[in-house]
Amino acid sequence: MTERTSQTQPTGGIPERAAGGVLHIDLDALASNWRTLRDHAGGAEAAAVVKANAYGTGIEKAVPALGKAGCRTFFVAHLSEAIRARAVAPDAAIYVLNGLFAGTCPAYAEHDLRPVLGSFEEIEEWAGFCRAQGRKRQAAIHVDTGMNRLGLTVPQGLTLKDRAELKDFETALLMSHFVSAEESDNPLNRRQIEAFEAVRSSLPGIPASLPNSSGIFLRDKPHYDLVRPGYALYGGNPTPDRDNPMRPVIGLEGRIVQLRWVEADDTVGYNGRWLALEKRRIATISVGYADGYPRSGSARGRSGDELLAGMAIVAGRRCSFAGNVSMDLITVDVTDVPEAQVQRGDTVTLIGGDLTIDEVGRRAGTIGYEILTNLGARYARAYRGGEG
Ligand SMILES: *Cc1c(COP(=O)(O)O)cnc(C)c1O
Repeated sequence: MTERTSQTQPTGGIPERAAGGVLHIDLDALASNWRTLRDHAGGAEAAAVVKANAYGTGIEKAVPALGKAGCRTFFVAHLSEAIRARAVAPDAAIYVLNGLFAGTCPAYAEHDLRPVLGSFEEIEEWAGFCRAQGRKRQAAIHVDTGMNRLGLTVPQGLTLKDRAELKDFETALLMSHFVSAEESDNPLNRRQIEAFEAVRSSLPGIPASLPNSSGIFLRDKPHYDLVRPGYALYGGNPTPDRDNPMRPVIGLEGRIVQLRWVEADDTVGYNGRWLALEKRRIATISVGYADGYPRSGSARGRSGDELLAGMAIVAGRRCSFAGNVSMDLITVDVTDVPEAQVQRGDTVTLIGGDLTIDEVGRRAGTIGYEILTNLGARYARAYRGGEG
């Protein structure tokens, strides 16, 4: 990691030597992933989903890097995120996925943002605002084809063509969202495509958008006019049953605060949930659940057990956590690493190498998406690349 660190540009925030953990963010890999996804999208435009602070990587860094790669359309979840994206992408199209809250139309207009309208109330409010302003502004319309969460129902979508309000604004996009696109054989994918197709063909001339990261790789290639990848941009595997075609974007290193030997019958950590069966060496790392590392990665059991728990790579070797993840600290069983190779102050890898965000998520009983979006505010953030 020394070489990589020397090439990074520590940007504001917490300096590396004062932080418990260092988060490496490779903006060149992010841009490369966007190009890979674009090349898989069969000629459709590739947008980028940058909600939740660009999945934890930092909106102010990720959006310009993607813009330099050629991305022209961004999706966020909240109006506040859209305003941040607008500040660094003056010319891009920016959509707000979570819909239009009452009374927010003027803010959309002020920042030239596009709401994703998901109900007739939202459509009426946006149409009324555009009529009053005498200007046809852009918006997307979201049709729910199976998530049962956000968007018009399919029967409602089929009536859109008869609604007068659609003349008051420009429907720049008709979109829907997959429920389980990462399960390539799930029959729901095909049913959603068919439902979307029915609404789309009733509204000729409106650009259409369906796939998230995994949807891009479905055999049916439901790419339409614009694809909306998020997770895969940040290195997550969009094809969990196959090798990951994406480059890793995130690396997380924690620093060893202390090393100690524990004896047989000693326990480690809060509530004594990990028991040493013999003498073991424990390294204490200065990262914890307050940094967004999930407490569900705790290792509860006995030394030597195969535990589904968090791991660290220490001097090139995988080592299991030992005991509960604390707020600010994680304890790792480093007995198998030669003693001279682990010292106070050394860094260990918590994400990186073959310890992918997908695996870290799985080991904590969650998904890599949650690992990314919880990446904490106490890390030093070291960005690399992004110059285009
Ligand atoms: C989050 C989101 C995406 C991106 O999904 P990924 O699985 O991260 O690629 C696309 N579309 C909508 C509507 C979303 O909410």
